[in-house]
Amino acid sequence: MNFECYLQAGKIASEVRENARRKYHVGSTLLEICESVEAQIRSMGAEPAFPVNTSLNDIAAHYTAEPGDATIVKEGDVLKIDIGVHIDGYIADTAVTVCYDPKYEALVRTAEAALGEAVRMARANTKAGDIGRTIESTITKMGFRPIQNLSGHSLQQYTIHAGKSIPNIWTRGSSFALLPNEAYAIEPFVTTKDGQGVVYEGKTRNIFGITSRKPLKDKEADDLLEAIWSRYKSLPFAMRWLTDKYDEKEVRRLMDILTKKKNVHAYPILVEGHGKIVVQAEHTLIPSESGVNVITL
Ligand code: MN
Ligand code: MN
Repeated sequence: MNFECYLQAGKIASEVRENARRKYHVGSTLLEICESVEAQIRSMGAEPAFPVNTSLNDIAAHYTAEPGDATIVKEGDVLKIDIGVHIDGYIADTAVTVCYDPKYEALVRTAEAALGEAVRMARANTKAGDIGRTIESTITKMGFRPIQNLSGHSLQQYTIHAGKSIPNIWTRGSSFALLPNEAYAIEPFVTTKDGQGVVYEGKTRNIFGITSRKPLKDKEADDLLEAIWSRYKSLPFAMRWLTDKYDEKEVRRLMDILTKKKNVHAYPILVEGHGKIVVQAEHTLIPSESGVNVITL
């Protein structure tokens, strides 16, 4: 674990997130937003740890712009911008929700408040279950609902979801305790009271990740697989990251083969069960023996 890399990745992630929070996105396309955020990350000497997620309204997570994506942010939209930055595979994961309709302000404030409470209590030895309980009670007290099947997670070098989950609700049974010098992302997702509080997989899949490098004996597909591996390793990537060197039609054809053969996993978007608005806030932190470093603060 390289603490300096984490700190640097966190600093860049938080600066880029604050730029995204301040910007007026209405009228921009999701493609412009993704490209602008990713360009900022690269200009600061880091790499995106995953394609910037720009999930609108009832889409809670895992939407990134398609090549040429013309989806425009409208006045009443609620947009989650989820940003990953890595240096040498050490990842800072952070998110902000932007919206311009005052009727969603309380919802956005609730996600931020739940994250704040969770971050305040997170130390080495804090039980993940206690964090989940705090997140849930903060959200319900403010009159809203947590998304119960989305959670925070431990992070490891080149691995975003490294096996441990930090729930956004109280869960029965024992839970693990946070370890010093391990990185964790905490990310409450909140919906309205009439939401289901559960997300389901949608049809759209535009974020991908390599799951196996086993050759298919199809030269073009195997070459693409190795090219992706050399660029992104096991980290998620977007189709639009490949169209600089590959023809879009060709890359779609080869990606179809790679996903069918299970060399590549295509992540579905996650949609609120009752089609209600979802908001999110996220920080990455690393407990130490004596305190905690919120690297994306
Ligand atoms: Mn995230
Ligand atoms: Mn995360």
